[in-house]
Amino acid sequence: MRSGPALPGSIAERMTRCGRANCACHGDPPRRHGPYFHWTRKVAAKTVGRWLSAEQAQDYRRLVDSDRRLRELVGRVESIGLEVVEADPRWER
Ligand SMILES: [Zn+2]
Repeated sequence: MRSGPALPGSIAERMTRCGRANCACHGDPPRRHGPYFHWTRKVAAKTVGRWLSAEQAQDYRRLVDSDRRLRELVGRVESIGLEVVEADPRWER
């Protein structure tokens, strides 16, 4: 895996309705506003969100994917580490 930036959190795509009752977003069928892109992540156990442009969302999604792959890799090597420790014959049974 090549090293590069990785971005924690996730990016959600949102279609919204506004407050104007006669707007097309309240029509039948509804034509909602958006898509809007919302990036959220945990900072000190709190969820923090920022709205992104479509272009930012497209770029940042790759970085979020990189982050997920890194976390999967860490999970796998940690599992191997736990197996190695469990198999250590020096444990007193
Ligand atoms: Zn509307």
